[in-house]
Amino acid sequence: MAAPIPKAELHLHIEGTLEPELAFALAEGNGLTLPFASQDDLRAAYSFQDLQSFLDLYYALMTVLRTEDDFADLADAYLTRAREQGVRHAEIFFDPQAHTARGVPVGTVIRGLARALDAAPEKHGITTRLIMCFLRDHSAGSALRTFEEARPHLERITAIGLDSAEVGNPPAKFREVFELAREAGLKCVAHAGEEGPPANVWEALDVLGVDRVDHGVRSMEDPKLVARLAADQVPLTVCPLSNLRLRVVDRLADHPLPAMLDAGLMVTVNSDDPSYFGGYAEDNFTAVREALGLDEETLRALARNSFQASFLDETTRETYLKEVDAHVF
Ligand SMILES: [Zn+2]
Repeated sequence: MAAPIPKAELHLHIEGTLEPELAFALAEGNGLTLPFASQDDLRAAYSFQDLQSFLDLYYALMTVLRTEDDFADLADAYLTRAREQGVRHAEIFFDPQAHTARGVPVGTVIRGLARALDAAPEKHGITTRLIMCFLRDHSAGSALRTFEEARPHLERITAIGLDSAEVGNPPAKFREVFELAREAGLKCVAHAGEEGPPANVWEALDVLGVDRVDHGVRSMEDPKLVARLAADQVPLTVCPLSNLRLRVVDRLADHPLPAMLDAGLMVTVNSDDPSYFGGYAEDNFTAVREALGLDEETLRALARNSFQASFLDETTRETYLKEVDAHVF
């Protein structure tokens, strides 16, 4: 089989890469007992059918992440898998509040992740950026406190983001923390238009001033918004297998990805929470190729978009784009 096409992963929650084997290993290392008899039992629990059972499992398993080493192990395990999937550059989300709420300091999280990321170019042949996300179902005050706690570590952070439950938590709630981040020289991204309406995408653009929209698939319901996104070439980090698993679409064959490409949008394909949603980066490329009948040049365009939409420096971006152009399927 041909090697996977070189690509950048731009929508990846590091907590969503925790596989059962590592969950058990970390639990043992921390003297914890998981409420699952075996890795197979846990693997079966990953076959959840709705958002709430996903979130219950997601937060239950996060308790195994305690020390700097745990976060380094988590990121290193992801990077190992990512390389096998053709990922050459990864912009990785983490949720500090999911850890600080359990008493794990934000510095522990960032230092642990950074250790694995610093080793990644040599060890895995992958460049990286780190994106600190705020949980939008928590208060704006909590996001502001978390940002201040992370301030001593901002040289490790490229961008801030906004994730978790979209409905009822519009982007404008977080205007202040996004202003602070921009003043600090950080890029901005936000989940919007996944389960929430196109109005959330407008707010992410016009109130938060985001450089990229995560998901954004529901933008297609608003022709004016589509025109705006196309004119400005705002990148959208689309996650097909996640959309299928969380029922944003009923069948992958119904996914709006081809319509988004036809509309001239800067679309990328990503994996979101791959250990829970059934696939890493190349698995998502393969799934859309098969379900939507995408041809090789469309797949190459998606891979090019992933580097174009990244926060890479121009020289490195050009190097990767040449690798994409030279790829033989
Ligand atoms: Zn996401």
